[in-house]
Amino acid sequence: MSFVTRFAPSPTGPLHLGHAYSAWIAHDMARACGGRFLLRFEDTDLERSKPEYILQIIEDLTWLGMTWDEYPLFQSQSLDVYNQSLEALISGGLTYPCRCSRKDIAAALSAPQEGVPHHLYPQICKRRSMSDRQDGDAIRLHMDRACDALGEFDLKFQEIGDINSGTYSIDKNTLMRDVGDIVVGRKDIQTAAYFMASAVDDIRQGITHVVRGVDLFEFTQVQVLLLHLLGHKAPMYHHHDLIRDNVGKRLAKRDDARAISKYRADGFSPQDIKHLVGLA
Ligand code: GLU
Repeated sequence: MSFVTRFAPSPTGPLHLGHAYSAWIAHDMARACGGRFLLRFEDTDLERSKPEYILQIIEDLTWLGMTWDEYPLFQSQSLDVYNQSLEALISGGLTYPCRCSRKDIAAALSAPQEGVPHHLYPQICKRRSMSDRQDGDAIRLHMDRACDALGEFDLKFQEIGDINSGTYSIDKNTLMRDVGDIVVGRKDIQTAAYFMASAVDDIRQGITHVVRGVDLFEFTQVQVLLLHLLGHKAPMYHHHDLIRDNVGKRLAKRDDARAISKYRADGFSPQDIKHLVGLA
């Protein structure tokens, strides 16, 4: 069996213990079976992504003893690829432009609408057509049409992690009820939403196993749906548990105190870090 996995940090802060844990799990799974481990910088947040974080992440991963098998992929250099995928959804008639602000959406949701579940986009722009698209509009997936486009609906993905392992069927009703008309095209930089870019890159990089934290599990059904709409087969998924701080909160980029570079400056060795995250 071929095995290709990746670590896909967003370079918006220093690498902390949680990232080291995630990267190690993916890296060591690949090395254990003679597979490949790739690195991808998800740097489409042009304001928050910083070159110094990219350099620091490379330095930290190298110090931790990890190696990757290809030159890293930078999403900021591939916006045309994501735009092509977005164009495929648009030309398939599966999208509509949306000019709603968060405020508009909150206001509409506070006035109950028959038939639209409360946590979903309240469909204000749903009747607009793409020919009416204006600068600054986001692009939403027309979920009903997307579900229809798949005809006989038999979408599944395989989860091999230790937490939720099994085969997951994605059904139309859940997508309509829980997901709704998600934004697939961003208004800020006019490219695909980040979960779409990430799914497209998993295909582009030939990823067979997506290894990542369980906090991203909820995106999986949407990513699998988008991949199918774009004519691709979904990879396998392995969502691992998260490293939490001492009050049980997930570590965030702003938890600089847990930054790998800080531990390193304090005299910790890579083995000490492996021990700290419970992998040694
Ligand atoms: N860029 C995401 C993050 O840093 C990871 C996305 C993924 O692994 O699919 O949380």
